[in-house]
Amino acid sequence: MGEIQTNLHRTQREIGQACQRAGRDQGEVTLIAVSKTKPLELLREAYDGGAREFGENRVQELLSKIPLMPSDVRWHLIGHLQTNKVRQIIGKTYLIHSVDSLKLAGEIEKESGRQDVVTDILLEVNVAREESKFGFLLEEVEEALRAIGEFPHVRIRGLMTVAPFVEDAENNRAVFRKLYDFYVDMKTKNIDNGSMTILSMGMTGDFWVAVEEGATMVRVGTGIFGAR
Ligand SMILES: *Cc1c(COP(=O)(O)O)cnc(C)c1O
Repeated sequence: MGEIQTNLHRTQREIGQACQRAGRDQGEVTLIAVSKTKPLELLREAYDGGAREFGENRVQELLSKIPLMPSDVRWHLIGHLQTNKVRQIIGKTYLIHSVDSLKLAGEIEKESGRQDVVTDILLEVNVAREESKFGFLLEEVEEALRAIGEFPHVRIRGLMTVAPFVEDAENNRAVFRKLYDFYVDMKTKNIDNGSMTILSMGMTGDFWVAVEEGATMVRVGTGIFGAR
């Protein structure tokens, strides 16, 4: 077995262990293999090891990889999306994780309507209020959910965050817990008719902490494909 598959299976095992520590069912957590900048042969190796969910952060790269991979791959756009790229990407993704403004959501609605499709999205939340990061601030999210919830061609499936870069994953536990609590609160308010079931948080450096704190999707790149 190749190195990519070994990494993939180790990551899955570590997710399982985190689930066990938290009393969760591993079936609740989806691993997204973040393949940005990586060549096709590495994606194929991950696919052959069982990976079906792939994450990319650039529209052009995502579009170029789609036709070269099997059709049962689910493509996740996880990076910042410019409004002028929306037209190209609609209809190609399983989930867009990185909706960070009403303007972008409006553009996704417009283009999805034009193509007569419903696009599944997450709202990106800048939980730690980092200047350098995209995303809604926590206090902006409820209003955004209500506004975007009116759009007939956009379905908000949940929330996503990119936590701060830290040496010790434990230092992000409070960030993950804060977003989980907020997510549960929003679900309770039932703003989007029960369609919110996804909480995307945790990367190579901290995914096990995110799983312990309630993540339903983790996005792991380096831990599977090696350094970029
Ligand atoms: C690159 C990226 C990841 C994966 O990062 P690793 O540290 O390599 O696991 C996850 N989420 C987003 C939004 C990314 O851009």
